[in-house]
Amino acid sequence: MDFEVIVVGGGPVGMMLASELALMKVKVCVLERLKETTPYSRALTLHPRSLEIFDFRGLKAKLMRKGKPIPTGHFAALDTPLDFSVLDSTSNFTLFIPQNETEKVIEEWAKSLGVEIWRGVEVLSVHQYSQGVEITAADLKGEFTLTAAYGIGTDGAGSIVRKQAGIPFVGTSETLTGMLGDVVLPDFSEPNGLSFFSKQGLVMVAPLPNGLHRVVMIDPERMSISKQEPVTLEELRSGMIRILGSDFGITQPYWLSRYGNATRQAERYREGRIFLAGDAAHIHFPAGGQGLNVGLQEVVNLGWKLAAELKGWAPDWLLDSYHAERFPVNTALLRNTEVQTLLMGSDFSPKMIELRSMLSSMLQIPEANYQMAKQISALNVRYEQETKELPHPLNGNRFRDLKLLLADGTVRNAYELFRSGSFILLHLASDDRLHDAVEWCKYKHIRVVLASLANVDSDWEDVHTALIRPDGYIAWAVSRSEPKRIDAVRQGIIHWCGGI
Ligand SMILES: Cc1cc2nc3c(=O)[nH]c(=O)nc-3n(C[C@H](O)[C@H](O)[C@H](O)COP(=O)(O)OP(=O)(O)OC[C@H]3O[C@@H](n4cnc5c(N)ncnc54)[C@H](O)[C@@H]3O)c2cc1C
Repeated sequence: MDFEVIVVGGGPVGMMLASELALMKVKVCVLERLKETTPYSRALTLHPRSLEIFDFRGLKAKLMRKGKPIPTGHFAALDTPLDFSVLDSTSNFTLFIPQNETEKVIEEWAKSLGVEIWRGVEVLSVHQYSQGVEITAADLKGEFTLTAAYGIGTDGAGSIVRKQAGIPFVGTSETLTGMLGDVVLPDFSEPNGLSFFSKQGLVMVAPLPNGLHRVVMIDPERMSISKQEPVTLEELRSGMIRILGSDFGITQPYWLSRYGNATRQAERYREGRIFLAGDAAHIHFPAGGQGLNVGLQEVVNLGWKLAAELKGWAPDWLLDSYHAERFPVNTALLRNTEVQTLLMGSDFSPKMIELRSMLSSMLQIPEANYQMAKQISALNVRYEQETKELPHPLNGNRFRDLKLLLADGTVRNAYELFRSGSFILLHLASDDRLHDAVEWCKYKHIRVVLASLANVDSDWEDVHTALIRPDGYIAWAVSRSEPKRIDAVRQGIIHWCGGI
């Protein structure tokens, strides 16, 4: 085999997956058609859960230097924003950052971890056999073939990997399009941008770095034009005049693009030795700024599972749990973007204006706002447990950053413990019998942390030990009141980290 894993498509999701695999000592190669990262940025937002993931891996500070934190998100561009500041997270905000900046940070990380990145390479075919996958690709010198134990399709919406694996892309085709323009608006003076919906259409304006503004528009007079048709500056100008009453002097288009509401999901994320992630696995109307975020979140779910399989300790159910865990999360994502599309782009009548106003009022109710903020920020994601034995209420939940007092007397944020991508066994009870739980020398992929809580925390006060997955979800918590606590810890380790 040339590699253990070949990742087809070096967009943000592919690069993130390759980095996760390399972190876990997997020999991985990315094949990317583009010679360099595109200078245009579809996504502009990193949401709380994605920022938490970057925090685990030590990349959050670098991203923070390149972006601008804002305390809100939005649902369907309703007038009431979603208040992220009340979320129980050390990343309780949106980081406003162009996608190409995020991509550069991830690619730099991938290189530092030794990922082989082959740019200017177009993948032509992908075949699998019992032992691995065979990938044929072409660069300027001609065609060549590579082999690997696993092949991943992170090659975007038109994914050749998905097509060659015969995985149906189930859903609905485009019925409407919106337009975007990264432009100069000399007469626009709102520092925080604007969002405006009326019977003439929807326009959102947001400031970008380098003196540009992003104009996003759904114009009822232009929304039946195909996504393939180029946008003109004149189209944006006349839409702005009609909807906002001014074009704010729009000039110097840096990037103009049209996007659609095709909504599809791969029927399965795994076919034998082939996996899909990111836009190759799901597409939707870009509402609420979620597509890139979910892609990053799902490859952090896949990376450690694939590494576990390759390193020989994965329980037999683990690889299939990628689809089992992520498919329902993304089904919910597709539904929420369809609802947003209805509210933003289907109807501009007085009835819709009234409905939007009612929903906006409802979002002023703190609990309603909180529930929606949790959904869009992806902090509501929890994974159902395979085993129902020894259930603990924390099992399957996202692991929140905790302040820990470590055995050496230092106080640390728990997220710092996740840098190396290992499981964390957080032991909070100073129980000497932990030494006898398993043969620790066999479990190099578990980092044992002896600590106590630096702050009172009602969710955690009864916890004796918790096994936390490399992607920051609680795999197995054991209560102090459990009669056979060390047996229970052993059971959790064997279930999740192999009998070895
Ligand atoms: C207008 C718009 C605004 C958006 N705004 C947001 C937002 O604010 N927040 C958010 O989270 N998301 C947003 N998104 C979604 C986000 O941009 C995508 O979800 C994200 O880019 C998906 O990343 P990816 O790596 O899966 O796919 P891509 O970014 O599409 O990358 C796929 C890569 O695969 C390569 N490739 C394809 N085929 C081959 C081949 N045969 N051989 C080799 N390489 C190949 C491509 O060159 C590309 O680099 C937006 C999308 C749009 C359209």
